[in-house]
Amino acid sequence: MQITEIKIAGFKSFVDPVTFYVEPGLTGIVGPNGCGKSNLLESLRWVMGASSARAMRGGEMDDLIFSGTEKRPARETAEVTLVLDNTDRRAPPEFNDMERLEVLRKLRRGVGSTYKINGKTVRGKDIQLLFADASTGANSPALVRQGQISELIGSKPQNRRRLLEEAAGIAGLNTRRHEAELK
Ligand code: ATP
Ligand code: MG
Repeated sequence: MQITEIKIAGFKSFVDPVTFYVEPGLTGIVGPNGCGKSNLLESLRWVMGASSARAMRGGEMDDLIFSGTEKRPARETAEVTLVLDNTDRRAPPEFNDMERLEVLRKLRRGVGSTYKINGKTVRGKDIQLLFADASTGANSPALVRQGQISELIGSKPQNRRRLLEEAAGIAGLNTRRHEAELK
């Protein structure tokens, strides 16, 4: 699976709808302090199902919605869409007939999040599983936050194991086993 586009509207400092096109190869994001580089990475983690506001540097989820400036009123919704190229069929088997996946997460102030894959409403868990299998999930070692390395060094063995499982691409299997055992 390859990320080809990231579309953002109303998320943190990205108030107007914007589309980032991700070309094959290495992509760098540069810009002055406070221009939104970290916000962009947070939008990625969020659309992949991140459920902790703290990981998003916010007190609560609604802090992710554009909060307004002197000149512009706050927004009521935040939206992030990830467009994925699935021609390599790395997505779970239920998506095998889809070459292109559009994953949308939308947050309404005071209401909460909804998720869609290609226009169809799904659970947050389905989104997390989709990305866990591809080893790119919201908590995956592919996204390294500031301070995360020292956190890892000082963390419990169980937490370190979780990271290895995610890196090995088996985190999704554990979640599915857990769900099956509950049924
Ligand atoms: P640095 O180079 O210092 O790491 P950066 O490019 O990573 O900077 P970000 O941390 O992504 O910058 O962006 C910070 C900006 O986002 C701040 O100006 C902050 O006011 C703004 N911001 C954060 N949350 C919101 C929000 N909910 N609404 C409006 N603006 C927000
Ligand atoms: Mg930053």
